[in-house]
Amino acid sequence: MNNSRRNFLQKLTASFIAVPLLSKQSTASFDDRVNDFFYDGPVLRVAIMGLGSYGTRVADAIQACTKVKLVGAISGTPAKLTAWQTKYNIPEKNCYNYENFDAIKNNPYIDAVYIITPNSLHKDQTIRVAQAGKHVICEKPMALNAKEGEQMVAACKKANVKLLIGYRMHFEPKTLEVIRMRNAGELGKIMFFQGLTGFRIGDPTQWRLNKQLAGGGSLMDIGIYAINGARYMVGEDPIWVTAQETKTDNVKFKEGVDETIQFQFGFASGAAASCLSTYAMNGLDKFYLNAEKGFAEMQPSTGYGPIKGRTNKGELTQEHKTHQTVQMDEMAAIILEGKQPVVAVDGEEGVKDMKIIDGIYAAVKSGKKVNLKL
Ligand code: NAD
Repeated sequence: MNNSRRNFLQKLTASFIAVPLLSKQSTASFDDRVNDFFYDGPVLRVAIMGLGSYGTRVADAIQACTKVKLVGAISGTPAKLTAWQTKYNIPEKNCYNYENFDAIKNNPYIDAVYIITPNSLHKDQTIRVAQAGKHVICEKPMALNAKEGEQMVAACKKANVKLLIGYRMHFEPKTLEVIRMRNAGELGKIMFFQGLTGFRIGDPTQWRLNKQLAGGGSLMDIGIYAINGARYMVGEDPIWVTAQETKTDNVKFKEGVDETIQFQFGFASGAAASCLSTYAMNGLDKFYLNAEKGFAEMQPSTGYGPIKGRTNKGELTQEHKTHQTVQMDEMAAIILEGKQPVVAVDGEEGVKDMKIIDGIYAAVKSGKKVNLKL
């Protein structure tokens, strides 16, 4: 019996048992559950590395996936592994720690590892997973800088495995509608993008405020949404950047950890962008795209949703689905079926954002315009 057939039969049995239990809490629509029930295609078997807050969110979201199964976990905390084994029905043989996970190479039950650890660990962990012959999905920012990102891309190419970056907004239906309108010429020539991203960060001892683990401050964590958003909303890569930093709290935001950065992009078409990244203001999550024939406005624009927005044609009404569920099913289709996403999510896409981040930090330091070669 082939793998997908076995998986189908397993699902069938599981569904008969699970439907009465899950029906109260399930957020999947009836149609989704029917599709899932009859799905007989390949399934991507994923292990999550880093069982923190976002790792848990992804694990929960995978439970509603059609093409993805959470089968493994990698953690430095044995108690977390035990809890995940129970909560997500993960077998002991698919559990690893940070010292021994290279042995995943000999585990035929895992196809891919999703790395959801602090930023500075992404590079080495990606390279080790690739060398173990497994596909890699890595959280944003993919690395600390473009050089590291390029090393990750090269390692995955060499090992002949796929490298995808956790850009969940690339699969979000309202975002994709704006991109469709732009590509269809319904907005006319794109003139200007504004991206505001930020929140007020709490606990000063967390890794996000530790230069060694985070690689920077708000820009690495939340500003990257405005950087990436500028590219997918304008539909072009920037050719130059200027940037300015503001710091009001030197104790919380130490040397190399940015509190607030404003940055501006120029594009070859003549379009421009103006963005803000901050750890000092609450609830900043807004995109505005101005074009010759129309506009798109989204607020919230990158949070977990529902995303809200309108264009010159009216309100965006596409249905909200849990971002990480859609992302993981789409990523399974990319890895298993070679599907091409509307907006790239591969390692090269991640490197572009890292080059821009390098450029923004260089522009802050020099006070000068920095040319970008993406
Ligand atoms: P978190 O602090 O909640 O979890 C990090 C996990 O990594 C913890 O379980 C921790 O134990 C583990 N870890 C392993 N080695 C560690 C070390 N040396 N120091 C500290 N922790 C270590 O963080 P998070 O919010 O889950 O973020 C993890 C990654 O996911 C980051 O790269 C972040 O940018 C990304 N993220 C992405 C999104 C998104 O929407 N795509 C959202 C949140 C976080």
